[in-house]
Parts: sequence; structure tokens; C-alpha cells
Amino acid sequence: MELNANVSRYPRKKTRQIMVGPVPVGGDAPISVQSMTTTKTADVEGTLAQIYALTAAGADIVRCTCNEPEAAEGLARIVPRSPVPIVADIHFHVEMALAAIEAGVQCLRLNPGNLRKPEEIKLVAAECKDRGIPVRIGVNAGSLDKRLYDKYGGITPEALVESAHIELGLFAEVGFDNVKISVKASRVPLMVEAYRLLSETVDHPLHLGLTEAGPPPAGTIKATAGMATLLLEGIGDTIRYSLTTDPVEEAKAGRTLLESLGLRERRNVDLIACPSCGRAEIDVYKVAQEAQAALEARQIPLQVAVMGCVVNGPGEARSADIGIAAGKHRGHLFIKGQIVRVVPEDEMVEALVDEAERLVKEGFEARLAAADRTAAEEAEADRRELFQMKGSDVNQSEVRVRLIRDHLSGNGDSATP
Ligand code: SF4
Repeated sequence: MELNANVSRYPRKKTRQIMVGPVPVGGDAPISVQSMTTTKTADVEGTLAQIYALTAAGADIVRCTCNEPEAAEGLARIVPRSPVPIVADIHFHVEMALAAIEAGVQCLRLNPGNLRKPEEIKLVAAECKDRGIPVRIGVNAGSLDKRLYDKYGGITPEALVESAHIELGLFAEVGFDNVKISVKASRVPLMVEAYRLLSETVDHPLHLGLTEAGPPPAGTIKATAGMATLLLEGIGDTIRYSLTTDPVEEAKAGRTLLESLGLRERRNVDLIACPSCGRAEIDVYKVAQEAQAALEARQIPLQVAVMGCVVNGPGEARSADIGIAAGKHRGHLFIKGQIVRVVPEDEMVEALVDEAERLVKEGFEARLAAADRTAAEEAEADRRELFQMKGSDVNQSEVRVRLIRDHLSGNGDSATP
């Protein structure tokens, strides 16, 4: 099956497009990945180092807090040196929004839950309109306006969406609609329902996220559950994982989610590996981790397989671009399921990385043509031998059958297998 086959059944909802600096968001633009710095924004060098790390990990847009005058001054120095557009995160203080605009940021995030005075909101919107700066209306369940909480009897999808609409109404009063919107919650069903409802009622680009998702792996799983559900329904133009960890992991997760759904072209390795079992001839976890680190560092945009045995490995991973399976103290290197080399076990990772690099440079045809002609035969001999050794009785069936019979007959003194 083609990577994009699932996605094409769920056409993306058409939204209007805005520009966050040079990055288009919405319309037919690629879905972008966002993350947020955890440094003090006043620490210009530290923040820039994190922005560069986030960009290398896959972020297209980065948000920095603008919570104090020193942060605004930091932004003025960060913006011209940043490789990606910067969004200033604003809570409570209108003067910080105006200062961030002066600093030259490419977008503001306003929280309708804590920046509430209509005249202040309209002042910021008018200023953004004059300067061509977009705004994200960032509604958060945790800071929902109390009036809406009381009106709906709690935090509901309707309350979150109405909060966004109230803000849109204020923006409309000054003729401003250069907007993207988020309605984040920390519970997946609430978040999904809120975005579905929002998507029915606006055509502004949507910024997806599960707020306060927590540390990985649970946080990553929860956020993925919510965002993947919406993305496959065609909802969402830009995404952020809000994880309690190094933000580089957020950027990586965002990129991985979009690549795995076929919504962004592969930029780095997609390592697939078997879960290992009693047939494994190597420490699959170790080899897979070593291969992942080496391939990721080289940004190899291929699907690469690490399989624990040659009995099932090459066949099960035949759709991978390249892979390696463990034979009898040897690795069978294959391209699209075709064996191209047999290498010593301790050279497996090195050989895999080397061949992957060549594959990227020279292409499939050239690398298949350069295959070692005797490799397939050698590999088949290994496979047959292993199959005979382990294939017929990997579960030590006869010993187990004897044990079962002994137990059932009340004579439980046989040796364990
Ligand atoms: S590839 Fe081999 S070792 Fe890995 S899970 Fe399958 S049978 Fe087990």
C-alpha cells in the first residue's frame, strides 16, 4: 500500500492561508510543526541555541514567551538571527503584546482567557493589522473565561469554541482576520470534539494541540491520539506537542507524526524493527537503537528495517527500502527484500549505515546492480540451517507436552523446558 493511501481517503479541510513570516499556514500549505522554547527569552544566546536545535529536529515555527520587558528586548535580538519565524506568547499583559510587535515577531499568540478587556484586544488587533502580523487565538480549557464556564456548566467543546468566536468578533470590529485558532484541552475526547466543532464554524487555519500532555511516553501517546484523529479527518494546519520534556522531543514527535501519516515528505529515517522473539539471533533492541542513532544523525530519509532473524526478517520487511536481518553470526543486508550483502555480525550497523548512505546517493537501481552475487545463496543457506535448528521446535513442544500431561495426571516432577 502507498504511504499516502490512507490519507487520501480523508481530504484536508480547506482553510484560508495566512503567513507566519515566510511559512504559509492553512490552505494547501504543508502542515507545519511548532514547538516552544523553555529558556528565559531574555537569554538571547541560550534561546537561539534552543531554536536552532528545534529547527534541526523538525520545527518550522518556534514560540517564545514574552512575559517581561527583558523578554521583549530579547525577542528584538532573537528574531533577526532565528532560522524560523518566531511567535510571541502573550498572557495577561497587553503591553507585552505591543512590545513583542515592536520586537518584530512574526506572530502573536493571545489567550482570550486571560487577556479580556475588549479595548485592549482591539488595540492589539489594530496594531497587528497595520503591521501585517498574524495572531493565534489560543483558547485553553484551563484558562477558560469564567462567564463561559458558568454559561455552559463547565468546560465543554461549545464553551471553548465560543471563546474563540468572541475574540474573532472583537477582531472583526477593527477589520482584522489574519488569524489562526487553537482550542486546546488536556483530555483527548474534549479536545477532539472542540476542534471538530471549531472546524465546522470557521475557515481559519487551525493549530492543533493537546495542552499539558505531560511527560513521554504517555504524553506523546495522548497527544498523538488526539492530533492523529483530527488530521485523518482533514482537520489541522499546524501542530504542537506540549510535552513535559526537552522541547526537541516535541519537534521530533511532530515531524514523525506528520511523516508517518504521509502528510509531510520523509526528511529523516523511519526505522522499523521487529519486536524480537525466541528466534532472535541478536540483541534486537541494542542493534535497533544503534542503527536509529547513526541513521538519524545522518538524516537518511529512508525506511530502514532491523530484524532479529533471517527466518522471517527479510520477507516481513520486504517493503522497507533497506534492512538487515541476523543470520548465523552474520547480518543479511537487503534492499527492497533482495539480499545484497552478507556481513559479520559485529559489522551489521556499520554496513547498514554505509549501504543506506550509498542508496541515498546512488539510487536503488545502482545499488541493486552492485549487489554481491553470492550473497543471496549464502543467505539462503543460513536461513535453511536456522530454520531446521529452530523452526521445527522453537517452543520445545515435546518437553512442554510431557509437562502438561504430567501436571494433568498429578505427576508434576518433570524438568522445566
Ligand atoms: S523477525 Fe525473527 S526474531 Fe524478529 S520477531 Fe520475527 S521471527 Fe522473531
